[in-house]
Amino acid sequence: MPTPESRRSDVDACPGALRLHAAADGPLARVRLPGGLLTGAQAGALRTLAERWGDGHLEFTSRGNVQLRALTGAPAAALTAALAGAGLLPSETHETVRNIAASPLPAAPDVRPVVRALDAALCDDRRLAGLPGRFLFAVDSGALDVATTADVTAVPGPALSPATTADAAAVPGPALSPATTADAAAVPGPALSPATTADVTAVPGPALSPATTADVTAVPGPALSPATAADVAAVPRPALSPGAGPTSPADPFGFAVVFGGFDLGLRVPADRLVAALIAAAHAFLDERAAQQRPAWRIGELDDGPARVAARTAAALGRPLGPAAGRLAPPRVREPIGVLAQPGGLAAAGASVPLGRLGGVPLEVLASADHLVVTPWRGIVVPDLPPPAARSWLSALGEAGLVVTAGSRWSGVSACAGRPGCAKSLADVRADAGAATTPGTGLPVHWVGCARGCGSPSGPHVRVEATGSGYRVTAPGLVADAPAGEVGGLVAAARRS
Ligand code: SF4
Repeated sequence: MPTPESRRSDVDACPGALRLHAAADGPLARVRLPGGLLTGAQAGALRTLAERWGDGHLEFTSRGNVQLRALTGAPAAALTAALAGAGLLPSETHETVRNIAASPLPAAPDVRPVVRALDAALCDDRRLAGLPGRFLFAVDSGALDVATTADVTAVPGPALSPATTADAAAVPGPALSPATTADAAAVPGPALSPATTADVTAVPGPALSPATTADVTAVPGPALSPATAADVAAVPRPALSPGAGPTSPADPFGFAVVFGGFDLGLRVPADRLVAALIAAAHAFLDERAAQQRPAWRIGELDDGPARVAARTAAALGRPLGPAAGRLAPPRVREPIGVLAQPGGLAAAGASVPLGRLGGVPLEVLASADHLVVTPWRGIVVPDLPPPAARSWLSALGEAGLVVTAGSRWSGVSACAGRPGCAKSLADVRADAGAATTPGTGLPVHWVGCARGCGSPSGPHVRVEATGSGYRVTAPGLVADAPAGEVGGLVAAARRS
């Protein structure tokens, strides 16, 4: 017998480009950008639509998608045609299920070909049009920055060291009981208790040899001035996992497929990776049917990660290796500044204040060849010679984006709040703007109600409107303050 909660879950109302959401400020369209990937021309097309029919801005989401707000009076057929003409609507049947997050900084391995191949395979699979709009794939470069938030994630196997899971096992939360955690390393995935279920994330396992990792962090010396070199952020080198194990002599590392943030021992060679992710999505639908549950995420199923992992392994004809347990919370590294890429290239990364982009910065970005919207609602201009990356960074800074760490907007995000959301108890964006001061530390997310849309999955400071002010919640802290006094509380909480 379905509960009232499960009855609500029967209706998948995730907005899309064709199924607009009736927001308080008018119809809202969400355009999926698998991997956050788009071209400058596509950004220009979105700008035209936002200025013609919307509020003039693009709104970035925590999955690297884009929303157009206040589309009052937008002709549906013209909107659809414009998005399709810009290459932003490759499938009308699958548009709300093209949910693929990815590590935003081009690294080795480059996740973008995997994202594109997965997107194409997803759109070619008729049954997967029935995936819930909340079901999320992820392709992680090994940075482990998107690996824990998705239902199915590909991770290079060497990125999964014992430390990455041991850290996670110590994190308090509903996902793993101490007893389950202790057992996890030695017990196959399906043995995990119902309490261990979470969403499935697949992280590409194989990819980084010591040599390729060194290439990722290296920037040709002559190309960068000392000043620029200081700004170049090193790409983190994933720890090599002695337990990852070879998958074949020709593919010595393989990829891990992670389910709901749990490494349950499934490893696949690179040439089977997309097939494995598609098989995992089918396994989710099969398990959901078997449990007769209207679940949207793997973590909503009984023993979801373990059971879906077992079904996926069976479908692929591969054994599950030892389960390592839950991955550590993501290490948030918002890409800001000039960032090194493999092969002597570089990228320019900028933070977009509260994820709203319009006017001059959007006009500037429309001239880029390629762009990446990050899971932290920022933007990256990739694949540039280092001098060009420096020029791009200057242009983005002059256009009003944040190009240095430590700005008052760094690490700060907010939900729509008033007037866009009828549920909101406050204009959280305006209050965040008034209260935010320069600082570093934990990310901060402002929300207009307890639903907490867009909240980061890792440790962060939550600032939630209460109707009489805000409640600030951080590790070891819960405190209330009026809107006019919450700034100091938030600043202190970031340092906690
Ligand atoms: S957190 Fe609440 S106020 Fe904010 S967008 Fe979600 S439902 Fe609306």
